[in-house]
Amino acid sequence: MKVDFKKKYGLFIGGEWRDSSDGATFAVSNPANGEHLTDCAQATEKDVDDAVKAAWAAFPEWKAVEPQERAAILNKIADRIDENAELLAAVETLDNGKPIRETTFIDVPWSSEHFRYFAGAVLTQQGTASVLNTPNITGNALSIVLHEPIGVVGQIVPWNFPFLMAAWKLAPVLAAGDCTVIKSSSSTPLSLIVFLELIQDLVPAGVINMITGSGSRAGQYILDHPGFRKLAFTGSTEVGLNVARAAAEKLIPATLELGGKSANIYFDDCNFRQAIDGLQVGILFNQGQVCCAGSRVFVQEGIYDKFVDAAVKAFTSVKQGDTMDMNTQIGTQVNEAQVKKIASYIEIAKKEGATIACGGEPNKEGELAKGCYFKPTLITNVTNDMRVAQEEIFGPVAVVIKFKDEADVIKMANDSEYGLGGAVWTKDITKAIRVARSVETGRMWVNTYNQIPAGAPFGGYKKSGIGRETDLSILDAYTQQKNIFINLSDEETGFYPEK
Ligand code: NAP
Ligand code: MG
Repeated sequence: MKVDFKKKYGLFIGGEWRDSSDGATFAVSNPANGEHLTDCAQATEKDVDDAVKAAWAAFPEWKAVEPQERAAILNKIADRIDENAELLAAVETLDNGKPIRETTFIDVPWSSEHFRYFAGAVLTQQGTASVLNTPNITGNALSIVLHEPIGVVGQIVPWNFPFLMAAWKLAPVLAAGDCTVIKSSSSTPLSLIVFLELIQDLVPAGVINMITGSGSRAGQYILDHPGFRKLAFTGSTEVGLNVARAAAEKLIPATLELGGKSANIYFDDCNFRQAIDGLQVGILFNQGQVCCAGSRVFVQEGIYDKFVDAAVKAFTSVKQGDTMDMNTQIGTQVNEAQVKKIASYIEIAKKEGATIACGGEPNKEGELAKGCYFKPTLITNVTNDMRVAQEEIFGPVAVVIKFKDEADVIKMANDSEYGLGGAVWTKDITKAIRVARSVETGRMWVNTYNQIPAGAPFGGYKKSGIGRETDLSILDAYTQQKNIFINLSDEETGFYPEK
């Protein structure tokens, strides 16, 4: 599909599209060929302030909308996404560099599914009523618990799943009855813009306000603004720390979904037919730019050689190419900076004494030379203490570590500052559950990888984050409990009797 981008896109504040207050813009290009796509507004401090004001102005009315009506809106948004799936997939691919088959089959349908899930979820968020007895009330009291929205929240999303991560943030906000100021990454602002253009008639003005601009400016203005009641962030652990500090200073909660170096564990008794496919889903999906990517691959001694041979064969035959071609399996990194970062880790691996079993360099074949392509890379002879085994590379680069037995691999898997994803591959179900329980991580797959549909909690242990998304529990993070405590008796308390 050909997309006709406008020459310029503005900020979405109070239901209107407008330029930034000083007129500044930044260029957005296609990482697959360097082509300029359009320009976007570079938000100023004043723009962020206007967005916060618009959100608070919309809040009283939006807060009063019944959950049933909010659910209906969420369902309409999901339908609108599905009706425009082809457009949204093409925009995401052109902006981000991920292949069209991924945006068509993953990013876009998972996003609409997310809105649909929260349409249902909000209807299950029932309050409670219980009868209590306290010494200074004669008779009983009735305690009623209601869920109320928090107010205006600040949300910052990354470039690896620009649309899906926005859906993860926006669906619970709308379900809960909050208003938001959301910032996309300046590397990939377009899918959120096109989405908001498509759904702006469905949501009252000011409920969703969208800011574009760099993290160090527009992002930092959000962190510094005193007008938020909650912050939500997905991105690097480094910036996540800034978000946590900003939240602490305002004494507001923050949910953080950060980096990872997840252990993908293969036992000798795994179903080998699934193994290599799972390896590729774990580290090549989205060009490895996945927070829970299976980037640390542990393989048991008995199948190690066979596994590495099969993996190299698979990695070198994956189809890398034109991102808009449905047959392309792996596209480009998001930008040149990421390619450089990945390449620097290849050098680190070599210096550390590891072996580059395949890949290890940008793909410059023919037309691909114009884009940010990096070859699928397998690094072997790795030990768990090497930097390439401890630090997030965020590219199609898996390091392979040999292990002896269960105790050995659990120890190494847990020797990491992160704990976001991970998997165990074995036909022995009791071993699978033992290992899954022993690894310090928020999500452990068994005989699969990178499945993140709505309905199961997703989030990190250790430095991988705080809080969970993609299930009912996130509604608690976007609401607060109101307790109404009612004296059911007309009697005097007896503590301070009338004289
Ligand atoms: P990042 O800096 O953390 O970017 C994530 C988001 O935060 C973007 O919207 C970014 O805006 C914004 N941001 C950046 N600096 C900010 C600041 N000082 N205050 C407020 N917001 C700020 O991530 P990155 O630099 O693009 O990528 C670096 C590494 O982070 C990656 O290589 C990867 O290891 C990790 N990462 C992880 C995830 C994940 O899902 N866990 C996602 C992305 C990156 P701009 O992009 O406009 O600057
Ligand atoms: Mg950055």
